[in-house]
Amino acid sequence: MDSQHKINHLSLLIENGIDFFERSISQIESEPKYSIINFCAGVELILKARLLYEDWKLLIDGDTDESKFESGDFKTINFIDLIPKIKTIPGEKITKSRKNAFAKLAKHRNKIIHFYHEAHSNNKEAELAQIATEQYIGWFFLYELIKKWGNILESYSSDFLKLNSKIMQYKKYLQVKFDKIKDDITNEKKQDILYCDCIYCKFHAARKENIEEDLYNNKCRICEQNFDSLSISCPDKCGGIIEITPDNIYESQFECLNCDYIIEKDELRELLNCDPITKDNYYFKNNINCPFCGERDVVIKYETLYVCLNCLEYSDTIETCECCEEDQLGGVPEDSYNIGCEFCDGYIALHEND
Ligand SMILES: [Zn+2]
Ligand SMILES: [Zn+2]
Ligand SMILES: [Zn+2]
Ligand SMILES: [Zn+2]
Repeated sequence: MDSQHKINHLSLLIENGIDFFERSISQIESEPKYSIINFCAGVELILKARLLYEDWKLLIDGDTDESKFESGDFKTINFIDLIPKIKTIPGEKITKSRKNAFAKLAKHRNKIIHFYHEAHSNNKEAELAQIATEQYIGWFFLYELIKKWGNILESYSSDFLKLNSKIMQYKKYLQVKFDKIKDDITNEKKQDILYCDCIYCKFHAARKENIEEDLYNNKCRICEQNFDSLSISCPDKCGGIIEITPDNIYESQFECLNCDYIIEKDELRELLNCDPITKDNYYFKNNINCPFCGERDVVIKYETLYVCLNCLEYSDTIETCECCEEDQLGGVPEDSYNIGCEFCDGYIALHEND
């Protein structure tokens, strides 16, 4: 397929996606059922645009015959297979939470078109709040990708900006949800249950559950998303908590919002690392690399776990690659000597030309 041809297909696909989003927005109050279906179609088409840009064959389920593609005689892959396919494109990493948010939309859509929509006719307001929340979060995750894929979607950036400002107004529906539970949150906090701001919907509704020492998993009662955090008591002893989440962990410094104290990344590493490099052990110590974010030497031992200080993934396991002899969070492939790890290509590739 020549490049002009590809651009034509791509434009039509993106315009179709935008059209579905516009329709979905206009229906959110009047016809919520169709709003769900159209929203999901919009997400699906934008994800497909990414695949089409890479290679039209990635879109096809089965026979990749170009003449059949041109005549429209083909079946595209299912929604649920789009994310795994995108992840095969070099440089594309789709986080678990993003995948879950899209899966939730798809599940709801499938239930409607293959079964029926449970309309809570006696509580229209709660139903609307629920649908709007799913879309608000789904859009939040999609819009991050849209911004990242600027080179592919750039001629439509003003359309996406408009869609974004309309969907951001859904926050009013989330507020309805929050108003209903805020007294309960206040009560729980009195009983020493901890809460923090949700990194996705921004409401102060993420209930903290301790994993280990300062490491928490937080579940938002508004948008139902989960995220981990390192919740560090301010080193200046002001009583404030510095929340380090997947949203800010890649930054080089973190501020206590209570007293403005700033903790540098190196300082944080020193503070948390339970197995630091010393002059006696440096010779034996391997880098611990993180395959989830693709960065080297970013993982520390933290109590009984290993935690990545670049993306906050953690595991109780590290393993050493038998080819590059560096450690990897979560383990290495069984035959690492031959096939390598996320950070090397293995012995077979090294000696390919021997
Ligand atoms: Zn939330
Ligand atoms: Zn402080
Ligand atoms: Zn990482
Ligand atoms: Zn390796």
